[in-house]
Amino acid sequence: MRALVFDGTLRLERSYPTPEASAGEALLKIRRAGICNTDLELIAGYLDFSGVLGHEFVAEVVSGDPSWIGARVVGEINVADGTCDFCQKGIPSHCRNRTVVGIAGHQGAFSDYMALNIANLHRVPDRVTDDQAVFVEPLAAAFQILEAQHISPRNRVIVVGMGKLGMLCAQVIRLTGAEVIGVVRREKQARLLNQWHIQAEAKTELSFAQADVVVDCTGTQEGFADALDLVKPRGTIVLKSTYKGLPQANLSRVAVGEIRVIGSRCGPFDAALRALEAGLVDVDSLVEARYPFDQIVQAVQHAAQQGCLKVLVDI
Ligand SMILES: [Zn+2]
Repeated sequence: MRALVFDGTLRLERSYPTPEASAGEALLKIRRAGICNTDLELIAGYLDFSGVLGHEFVAEVVSGDPSWIGARVVGEINVADGTCDFCQKGIPSHCRNRTVVGIAGHQGAFSDYMALNIANLHRVPDRVTDDQAVFVEPLAAAFQILEAQHISPRNRVIVVGMGKLGMLCAQVIRLTGAEVIGVVRREKQARLLNQWHIQAEAKTELSFAQADVVVDCTGTQEGFADALDLVKPRGTIVLKSTYKGLPQANLSRVAVGEIRVIGSRCGPFDAALRALEAGLVDVDSLVEARYPFDQIVQAVQHAAQQGCLKVLVDI
């Protein structure tokens, strides 16, 4: 089968071994996949990744448990052992022995076929298109903010880093009724936010220390510094960023301002699917380009351009 492999160099292999489903797994035929910033960070050296990339996808089940065959599915990316103390507590996303699809120790979805635990699968409702389903994984990550931080409708929330994930976070937080402001650097970002009636401002237009919650989706140390400028004393910074390298930060300001810093990663797929089915979140406007699988290396180069939104790949 075809697979996008990274092992220091990035290439599309055409005779990569097709996986087989073992007990508890289904074999998935990948229909469409999305390129995430995490993919670009892995290619840049984050986690010393080696293998088949890709973790945002929609697929069809082609073998495994008969009750799943033919189902159109999305898949949670953390594959848990089901036995460790975190799994026993119902927190498989922090399984001590987890692998992560296309990120750590598990084959990714930029491939014709992938085997995945049936426990990770979610059926996609008919009303949700393939394009929309590719956004379930990052949209679930946006919903995870609400799991970690109560956001009141009286709050002012600022999202820094208006890329693909930031756009989803701003739309999800808007559902709480809170005042949401996206910090923009480009006209395209402002236009999208205005389309959803979300306020768009440049960092220079915002007063310091006026936000109850700041969500950092930048992936840069400058983004965390901006979040520290914008958050109120005793406010909260929610970190959605992962970084290659070790960013510097002025932690004295965290102590003096009594700022809470909360890390946030993968989230509830069910909530993301419900939001897409009900039309509560617009993901279609975030599609910037689509490529056939044979041109996936060019697709990755396109996705790496500054300000690029979602690039989809038809597998
Ligand atoms: Zn476990």
